[in-house]
Amino acid sequence: MSPVANELELAEPHLGGVLSAAGLDAEYVRAAGNTLYLRGADGQEIPVLDFAGGFGSLMLGHNNPEITAYTKSLLDAQVPVHSQFSRHPCANRVAQQLNAILQRELDDDEPYFAIFANSGAEAIEVAVKHAEFERSGRLAALAEEVAAHVESARAAVREGAALAPTEAGARLEAARRAGDAEGFEGLLAALARENAERLARSPLFLTLEGSFHGKLASSVQLTHNESFRLPFKALAAQARFVPRDRPEAVKEIIEEERATVFDLSVEGDTVTVTERDFPIFGAFLLEPVQGEGGVRVITEEFARAIQDACAAIDCPIVVDEIQSGMGRTGAFLASSLIGLRGDYYTLAKSLGGGLAKVSVTLVRRPRYRQDFELVHSSTFAKDSFSSHIALKVLEIMEAEDGRIYRMARERGTKLVTTLEALRADFPDVIKDVRGKGLMLGLEFHDQSTSESPAIQGVSQAGFLGYTVAGFALREHRIRLFPTGSAFNTLRLQPSVYLSDEEIARLDAALRDVCGVLREQDGERLTGG
Ligand code: PMP
Repeated sequence: MSPVANELELAEPHLGGVLSAAGLDAEYVRAAGNTLYLRGADGQEIPVLDFAGGFGSLMLGHNNPEITAYTKSLLDAQVPVHSQFSRHPCANRVAQQLNAILQRELDDDEPYFAIFANSGAEAIEVAVKHAEFERSGRLAALAEEVAAHVESARAAVREGAALAPTEAGARLEAARRAGDAEGFEGLLAALARENAERLARSPLFLTLEGSFHGKLASSVQLTHNESFRLPFKALAAQARFVPRDRPEAVKEIIEEERATVFDLSVEGDTVTVTERDFPIFGAFLLEPVQGEGGVRVITEEFARAIQDACAAIDCPIVVDEIQSGMGRTGAFLASSLIGLRGDYYTLAKSLGGGLAKVSVTLVRRPRYRQDFELVHSSTFAKDSFSSHIALKVLEIMEAEDGRIYRMARERGTKLVTTLEALRADFPDVIKDVRGKGLMLGLEFHDQSTSESPAIQGVSQAGFLGYTVAGFALREHRIRLFPTGSAFNTLRLQPSVYLSDEEIARLDAALRDVCGVLREQDGERLTGG
């Protein structure tokens, strides 16, 4: 069929409209390195310097020549792409390579098993599902233990044992009366009823304010941004969001939310009703450097508070390295830089080298439930195409004793130095420069009381970052974007091949942006 002039836009037309309002509805026709190309009215390509970096998927740049050449060779060799339910030695090699890297960075040789998926959010769904699978095993073991205690207590009461008066006993007694049942058997019926109800509660997940873990049904409930999360609240288990500036809040929230079941113990001729904690917490999820939340680096102190609190209640920690991992912060895992150790790791984005869609959830051996492999799958997961590319990406990252990580550190330092100098010159415009390696954020001061009605308007609508991005694209041919949930913060996530000249171009564009904001030149900023 031939294309129709003025054809109806059916692929997310509303989003297209929003992008167009900010001047961001460009169509890119080619990409290489840190550059995307537009087609000008005269048919010529117009280069655009890309600092959005695929929102973190392009550590190695657009169409990295080594990865594209390798990808072509895979296609030429007719490597089977979809051969589900067969052996996948390449996926196994990816898992082994990831384990070798984790062992080095975590200084620990406990293996992590790998479950492959297709996107970041999907890797989080896998972690959530697996954590629930494992938790339900712990719940079943607990229920069995209580059942055995009930039998011992029943036998002891038959032999003449008496109930000790305790607070837990009084609460169970109240439940018995509410159920209108009589005697010790009535008490046991109340215990069974109460416990069944409590154990059937949905798990509660813990994560941080500002977190972003994806937009699928479960993962979006772990994503702090209310406009993404609340419309879908009824679909999945809920999270408590821990304030990210108060490490002591981790323990306080766990204390507030802990949940108990009734249990019985027998000592001599005394039966005692107790209440004991059961694993209500599904997992604690965190990004070592929050990306969409505004590029916020989690401190070592916070990581330790989470680690200690979770160890005390046997709650698994899911370290979401989907954006911060793959070397972006100068180490393969950003969490390794703050001494955080996870029971789970999720990786995606740059694992696919900018070409394949691939993600992986790593689960530490003591937590791993192999039956999970029989109940979770996807048509596309663990395919040879994406596994081969992921392996190639890991090979590039690990080559020359980690040259890519060194580059991320060195280029990151250079970029931060430039941004800090900008902030020093425009302290009235730039509020903060944050991040690690090549995961950097540049926060503007709030402009919602700007004297320019245009700047005030876009700021109040949460559109300042997008308007700045539109300006940078229009005036400087530079692609910038705010983070997903903190709209005054620009994300800077270029590839490790960022050149000094590219940094200088960014500097010039940002200086222009800062000048416009200092002058409150709404007309120039909005192009209106
Ligand atoms: N977790 C984090 C930390 C992310 O940054 C993202 C994506 N921005 C996701 C999960 C979701 O990944 P995807 O967009 O591939 O579903």
